[in-house]
Amino acid sequence: MPAGPYFSPKIETMERSDLDALIDERVRYTVQYAADHSSFYRHWFEKNRINPKEIRIHEDLLSLPLIAGKTIREHQPPVTPEFEFLSTDWSNVFSIQETSGTSGTPKGFFLTWDDWKRYAEKYARSFVSQGFTRKDRIVVCASYGMNVGANTMTIAAQRIGMGIIPMGKCSFDSRILKSYRPTAIVGSVFKLLRLLRRLRTEGVKPEDIAIDKLVAGGESFAEESRKYLAEQWDCPVFNTYGSTEGTMCGECTQLNGLHVPEDIVHLDVYDPRLESFVPDGECGRAVLTTLLPVGGRSGMLLLNYDTEDTTVVLSRETCGCGRTHMRIYNPQREAETAWIFSNSMNRVDIEAAVFQPENMAHLTGEYEAFIYDGEAENEVILRISVECLDLERCDRRLVEDSVVSRFLKNKPGLTHEYHEGNLKILLNFTDPGGLELYRLKGRPKRLIDRREMV
Ligand SMILES: [Zn+2]
Repeated sequence: MPAGPYFSPKIETMERSDLDALIDERVRYTVQYAADHSSFYRHWFEKNRINPKEIRIHEDLLSLPLIAGKTIREHQPPVTPEFEFLSTDWSNVFSIQETSGTSGTPKGFFLTWDDWKRYAEKYARSFVSQGFTRKDRIVVCASYGMNVGANTMTIAAQRIGMGIIPMGKCSFDSRILKSYRPTAIVGSVFKLLRLLRRLRTEGVKPEDIAIDKLVAGGESFAEESRKYLAEQWDCPVFNTYGSTEGTMCGECTQLNGLHVPEDIVHLDVYDPRLESFVPDGECGRAVLTTLLPVGGRSGMLLLNYDTEDTTVVLSRETCGCGRTHMRIYNPQREAETAWIFSNSMNRVDIEAAVFQPENMAHLTGEYEAFIYDGEAENEVILRISVECLDLERCDRRLVEDSVVSRFLKNKPGLTHEYHEGNLKILLNFTDPGGLELYRLKGRPKRLIDRREMV
């Protein structure tokens, strides 16, 4: 078994039984801390007739109700006079953060310096598991705003002793890569692809720069697009999944799922259609619970928080990297899932179809998809727009066949509707810059459902 390196060796390689005992101890402390320090949880336990002292082990969390993003918004101004999730005195709050607010008023988050240290610990473990050392210099393209991502990485870098270049976005001058010779970049898959295209246009050669790792985060992606990105940059691409709510999971060099830092955040998987938690190996929404070390303090805690991101617990066995913490499948956003003929499809399913190797001689990888009502009753149209490197020379027949067959490959229900003529899949080809998403502000939406009645 390879031994590390690890950021916190003792905890990252702890035997399962010891790890479970530690988790249970933290569950008891955290639940009591929530009841003692937050008016929301005090009322929540009362209303649900739960005695916090009866929550003894992590399995007991499964009997508690779920908390959603909506719950937080309903217990903060302007709905209530106070921030009811706040779980410490204002004087202990080091920073106030907010989620992006794509679905209503942004949720307020309160972090003490101890919270920041725990957030940074999670990222530091993730970076070290990806081979980062104090010799690395990393360009952070995530934005230094109200969400915690970029700042957390920066504190994590300090703890590892590595250098940081806080660009905040991916549209930086290529001079940064040539002059300072950073060894890694954190950004989204598409921003990293665009950056490379720009470097090539500017005539920057591989030997002019020193990048040997990429960290992709901020959105889910298909394995196919990761593979393409890794080939193009000629270096490994590691996934991280983080949020202001406190999930920070990362892939190690084994690239076989994201490690959940189980001593700091507890994760269960819940299927809203079954209204129940599901066993390992089954797909559902990631539900997280903050875990505090005994004696720890926190500005805001989440118990059984529904992230609305779907995942699968892949394994609780020791990983090839020697870490014992469980691994999960790359989470997907449920907001990016649409239902057609009672079959679910996620944006990532389209991405996987677009990034088939044979297509990439013709395409940039940029895409967007729309779902429309058809002319006939019970007809649905899926229109996928792809961007060609050169519209004139693009082999449209090849790309269309490849995209359609890969998209339908793992969707027997949709394949049936497609052959019955109820599902029509149309491919639309554009020049670089021709997609609708370039004209919209904010995070690009690549799957848009435009049906009247869904
Ligand atoms: Zn591992």
